[in-house]
Amino acid sequence: METGKIIKVAGPVVVAEGLRGAKMYDVVQVSTQKLIGEIIELDEDLVTIQVYEETAGIGPGEPVFSTDAPLSVELGPGLITSIYDGIQRPLDIIRTNEGNFITRGVEAYGIDREKKWEFKPVIKKGDQVTSGDIIGVIQESSIIQHKIMVPYSIQGEIKEIYSGKFTVTDTIARIKETNGSIAEIKMLQKWPVRKSRPYKEKLPPIEPLITGQRVIDTFFPIAKGGTACIPGPFGSGKTVVQHQISKWCNAEIIVFIGCGERGNEMTDVLLEFPELIDPYSGKPLMERTILIANTSNMPVAAREASVYTGITIAEYYRDMGYNVALMADSTSRWAEAMREISGRLEEMPGEEGFPAYLGTRISSFYERSGRVKCLCKDNREATLSVIGAVSPPGGDLSEPVTQNTLRTVQVFWSLQDKLAYKRHFPAIDWLTSYSLYLSQLSEFYGKEISKDFIELRSKSMEILQEEAELEEIVRLVGIDALSTNERLVLETAKSIREDFLHQNAFDEVDTYTSIKKQYLILKLIILFHRQAEKAITNKGVTIDQLNALPVKAKIVRAKFIKEENLDKFREIENEIISQINAITTI
Ligand code: ADP
Repeated sequence: METGKIIKVAGPVVVAEGLRGAKMYDVVQVSTQKLIGEIIELDEDLVTIQVYEETAGIGPGEPVFSTDAPLSVELGPGLITSIYDGIQRPLDIIRTNEGNFITRGVEAYGIDREKKWEFKPVIKKGDQVTSGDIIGVIQESSIIQHKIMVPYSIQGEIKEIYSGKFTVTDTIARIKETNGSIAEIKMLQKWPVRKSRPYKEKLPPIEPLITGQRVIDTFFPIAKGGTACIPGPFGSGKTVVQHQISKWCNAEIIVFIGCGERGNEMTDVLLEFPELIDPYSGKPLMERTILIANTSNMPVAAREASVYTGITIAEYYRDMGYNVALMADSTSRWAEAMREISGRLEEMPGEEGFPAYLGTRISSFYERSGRVKCLCKDNREATLSVIGAVSPPGGDLSEPVTQNTLRTVQVFWSLQDKLAYKRHFPAIDWLTSYSLYLSQLSEFYGKEISKDFIELRSKSMEILQEEAELEEIVRLVGIDALSTNERLVLETAKSIREDFLHQNAFDEVDTYTSIKKQYLILKLIILFHRQAEKAITNKGVTIDQLNALPVKAKIVRAKFIKEENLDKFREIENEIISQINAITTI
């Protein structure tokens, strides 16, 4: 192992000399305490290292050891239910070994070496295999089956394959490669975090990631394999939105990266997430989750690495054929870590001190999402959806991290604290949010839900926009200036906001709405609107008459109709028609 010598220490950045043969992004161990770091700059004999641990007390003259390998994650059974720090050290193991504060230089494997897993082969001796092919399965948690794949760049004939209980480092199969050599296959694989895992082909997203949250699924959907951004002013309900998506979205695997600045932000995640129950299985949500948590006493560089650690693990499960949803909270902290390190490197700062490559880093992170054809012989497809939270200082969306993120992502859920103050939850503003997936997904909605779904959604959006304009007029000249039809628009907009968009995460029924039911609720509201419009134009009925109709209360309560009673909607539709007819024939 090559050994170098420290010549300078500046916070998380260390400069060393004498590490001949070192490569960019190689991992090194700094000082006799073996602090983990990564080479981020090479200049002839000098290397610059970002260190993932506190460097206080480390000084010039101390040794630096190269490991000759890039920063990698360990992949294999045992990832599910794990809680890791930014460089995949299991927090519970570190805590038991070292007490509550992570001491420096702790080496802990990302994946348990002792545990034995029941490996069941799905192919046999003599079969031809290529990279990505599934050779066997393991029941990793009560709900997730882990699939063992042929590692990247290996192909050939299965010479031997075993079944039974093995540790991740035992040989479970031998493959005779095309060049004649024998590859020993183990369950444990490694992958360098800064390199995206390969796939055969990227496919356009065609299906929505259903979250059961009406404002998202109907108004601003994210596609499976898509990207979304959510800003989170404090107290605006960002955590609840993220938890709701984690619990309810139709992705099998959840990866949650917590990049907290303040200690308590992370404590919340560490305390709350393991308590969440998966509504589909009734088991803890952790049974299909991997949590990456940067605690506040970890230095910035580990925060910088954590998003890569998380997305590499997410890609690994995608490669097995799963739909994976990754949430990063918050990418602003990641960007701030980049800024701090860039400052230490004395790089030329860009906007607001962020490095000039901020935009490139953000977009290459989100580009690791997608719907793909996996690398393998069969035509396995899978998706990785990425949802990033940003926390712009003072809620100012024009700052560089938000702006660069918006340039990349296709969906923006504009969480507004003014809505949260009014107790309108989820506080996603319908006027400033957007989803660029709507046209791609319209075929799915048309086929799977109803032909008029997109039309209903557009009509509702139009009414909400008209409301904003009419409110301006009302502010200036009062409600009397409005025609009856305009007042109806205000009434319907209120109904869309209160009876559809507002959704209580803590109500047993309201917490999740199937997409079919979302359509049915919206259909009631728009049916009422259209019938009322006709009655006003043709027969001069008044808003008071319309508001007095008993069916109005049924529209208000429609969101509490249970999923198994969706036929009730037809009855309410009939009541709308008959009650409005009744007042027009008086
Ligand atoms: P943040 O993470 O943005 O600081 P939280 O997600 O913790 O905010 O939300 C703050 C509070 O807002 C919650 O404790 C809850 O009372 C309320 N809240 C947020 N979203 C909802 C929701 N969908 N339904 C009901 N209450 C909500």
